[in-house]
Amino acid sequence: MKPQLILIGAPGSGKGTQAKNLIDEMGYNHISTGDLLRAEIAKGSELGQKLKSILDAGNLVDDATVLELLNANCELEGKSYIFDGYPRNLEQAKALDEHVLKGANSMAIYFDIDLEILIERIVNRRTAPKSGEIYNLITRPPKVPGKCDVSGEDLVHRKDDNEDTVRNRMNIFKENVDPILEYYEGQGRLQRVNAASSAVEVFELIKKIIDNK
Ligand code: ADP
Ligand code: AMP
Repeated sequence: MKPQLILIGAPGSGKGTQAKNLIDEMGYNHISTGDLLRAEIAKGSELGQKLKSILDAGNLVDDATVLELLNANCELEGKSYIFDGYPRNLEQAKALDEHVLKGANSMAIYFDIDLEILIERIVNRRTAPKSGEIYNLITRPPKVPGKCDVSGEDLVHRKDDNEDTVRNRMNIFKENVDPILEYYEGQGRLQRVNAASSAVEVFELIKKIIDNK
């Protein structure tokens, strides 16, 4: 069975783009804690209302809430998953091992990239929630402005994809990433890819990593 994949990288480093490639070409299942949280907000529940202000500000949701959502949406038995956006701190990395992976064959991939170039990527990101396609107004524009090439649905510009919020999200990422990388590196579970390469090149690198596992 293919290894469970843990994608670690700053906002905009290309995790969702590569997850989509891995789903389409390799049959991976995808779990994005950001998507799960946004779905909870869309329900308009009491929890969703609390979550909205946290996501809009670009802050992290508490570990217990995210772990509960993750566990409720992930059935590892017989399936290979991509964990995208989780873990965001060392405690979450440990919780993923203890409560979800439980010794399953897994590896972490770090999307290594200079954070400054990510601001432009993120403010130009547009997403299609139903098809899962991810566009960029500069590097991957849709054929018809504002519409998904695949589903025709209206593209979404996430509220937290603005420059101020992105800077906060980057700072939170910088504060937390080193212990996560040390954790996986110390266990020989970490691979790095140069996430500044084109999306096609990054995908080739990831496929090689999976094949060599
Ligand atoms: P993440 O899931 O890590 O936040 P995304 O995959 O959503 O990042 O990508 C953020 C933005 O950058 C999107 O607009 C996407 O089209 C674009 N993008 C993704 N990978 C690359 C790449 N390798 N080179 C240039 N732009 C990219
Ligand atoms: P993302 O879709 O990964 O860019 O995440 C969007 C937002 O969801 C983040 O800025 C956080 O507010 C929240 N979020 C996503 N994943 C987590 C997580 N693992 N822990 C805490 N907050 C999270």
